Amino acid sequence: MTEQERYQRVDLPFYREEIRPVLPPTVLDFHAHVWSRDHWRKAPAGGSPDGRYMVVETEYPVESLAADARAIFPDNGYRAVCFGMPTPQADIELTNRYLAEAAGTGWLHPLMLAGKGLASPAELERALATRAYKGYKVFLNWLGDDYGQCTIEDMLSPVEMGPAGRLRLIVLLHVPRAGRLADPVIQEGVRALAQGYPRSQIVLAHCGRCYLPDEMSRAVGCLKGLDNVWLDTAMVMDPTVLQIVMEELGPARLLFATDFPVPAMRGRRVYALDHWVDLVLPGPEPSAYRVITPDIRASFMAYEIVQAIRRAGERAGISTGELEAIFHDNGARLLERVEV
Ligand SMILES: [Zn+2]
Repeated sequence: MTEQERYQRVDLPFYREEIRPVLPPTVLDFHAHVWSRDHWRKAPAGGSPDGRYMVVETEYPVESLAADARAIFPDNGYRAVCFGMPTPQADIELTNRYLAEAAGTGWLHPLMLAGKGLASPAELERALATRAYKGYKVFLNWLGDDYGQCTIEDMLSPVEMGPAGRLRLIVLLHVPRAGRLADPVIQEGVRALAQGYPRSQIVLAHCGRCYLPDEMSRAVGCLKGLDNVWLDTAMVMDPTVLQIVMEELGPARLLFATDFPVPAMRGRRVYALDHWVDLVLPGPEPSAYRVITPDIRASFMAYEIVQAIRRAGERAGISTGELEAIFHDNGARLLERVEV
């Protein structure tokens, strides 16, 4: 089957029957990446900025994101909160400037890559004064999955959080450490951040990296009573994870997100024992935790995120309005509150 045949015979019918009925007219994707190959300080070996951990294309400009969104959600409007690749190999200044220019397109809502020690208070204020950014994507100061003993305090300081509290900025945070949001050190860090800067709007990427139900069960309690913390659904495809969030925290804390370009792959993220695995159709480069197999029927992983949210919503008994809000209005409210 050619790419076009697969799109016409498998993807489009699945979208029209299963996905489109769940979605509001316009979706807001709260986590998408864009970058150009000139943004690397060091050219990524074998197409990967992160060694063998999450192998991606050498470039994914705004035009590619727009094309993927058009192909994957053809009957929906598409808006995205987006940012560069937050790794030590990226040229932060170039990638941030590229995002600021992209803000002019109207459908993109850029976050600047920011983090402890990256910019002086004056540099940060200058960047925010351009009014191009809705907040920060917190820089990941490590390579691949080498999270080591890193803490949230190592990633964010009062230099970044001061303006975030003052201007109600979005702080999109990918939590470190092997224990993810289930790690008590991380939970303490998130609570300190949220309570120390109650006007900041903290979004934990990938549901705090809890892709497995057991992880979310252990993690969810720490977010109770923190009204300024939300969870994005990027690459989360397990309905039980999302059901736990809906039941324990309420559906308004969930923001639909993809992590494009990753879920433009066809397949599904599953888990074995205690770690996730991406089962994907041939096409993508080999990568850690990626099993490439021609032997499954599959469509875009972005659809599996939508399906997981719908299934969780059914089990948790949320209303149609609450379900639709996850795909647009919950996130739109955060963007509207930003005071830059
Ligand atoms: Zn991401």
